[in-house]
Amino acid sequence: MHFVDAKGILTGKGGYYGMNIYRGCSHGCIYCDSRSKCYRFTHPFEDIEVKRNAPELLETALRSKRKKCMIGTGSMSDPYMHCEKDLKLTRRCLEMILQYGFGVAIQTKSDLILRDIDLLEEINKNAKAVVEITLTTYDDDLCRILEPNVCNTKRRIEVLEKLREKGIPTIVWLTPILPYINDTKENITAILNECVRTGVKGIIDFGMGLTLREGDREYYYAALDKYFPGMKERYIRRYGNAYELPSPNAKELRALFEDICMENNILSKAEDCFAFMQELPDKYEQISLFDL
Ligand code: SF4
Repeated sequence: MHFVDAKGILTGKGGYYGMNIYRGCSHGCIYCDSRSKCYRFTHPFEDIEVKRNAPELLETALRSKRKKCMIGTGSMSDPYMHCEKDLKLTRRCLEMILQYGFGVAIQTKSDLILRDIDLLEEINKNAKAVVEITLTTYDDDLCRILEPNVCNTKRRIEVLEKLREKGIPTIVWLTPILPYINDTKENITAILNECVRTGVKGIIDFGMGLTLREGDREYYYAALDKYFPGMKERYIRRYGNAYELPSPNAKELRALFEDICMENNILSKAEDCFAFMQELPDKYEQISLFDL
């Protein structure tokens, strides 16, 4: 881990801003796209860059903005990595978001987010808070291989339950779906059943597949060699050097996904989920206790 003084913290234009307090990630997901070469990391991916002045930068930025909007974080680096436990930069940024009346859409795989549930609840009452949780496999032994340094799926489902109890809406990222690994009907059904039970607002699936590019591909293939001997060769035979690797079962899995989402009134189109996460209406209706 190393510290830097960043020059700015928000990206994007009025209406919706993105924010990354950390650069790099220590959760170790074997399929992580953020480690791809196109992002031009000048330090090892696990050597987290910490923007130590993030809360101050955020306060300056929010103070000068008239129109309130949603602020998204967590797309490139998990805001609740282990280092956040002591550094509390994500927490301090949430305090700024609450203080200045903005909304937040925050993506994580970590149960450390529960530490800040008080703030998220307040932001959700004051403006809007959306929590995005990734679920890829219902099998916690497989989860330990795919996402080794963060809490398992069972625990993430408990996080969804606790957020629901506080009336905080959730979006699940059902992605990536790895060909020949977690792309089974049983796995997708089990995850979707938990999404229904915990009342998630929407689910993003991105077509039931995986993307790979330079940097990410090498890391993923090394993990396949370690944990799934012969699988890398199977991938190369089927997909060559393609960027998009849809599951051979994608059609069947998508149909299942659409059916379960439609039956249970869950947003299933990525654009609808993004609109929900990125829009801060003047009058935002919190989840009613009667919906719980
Ligand atoms: S949590 Fe996200 S950013 Fe971190 S290693 Fe996993 S996929 Fe990459």
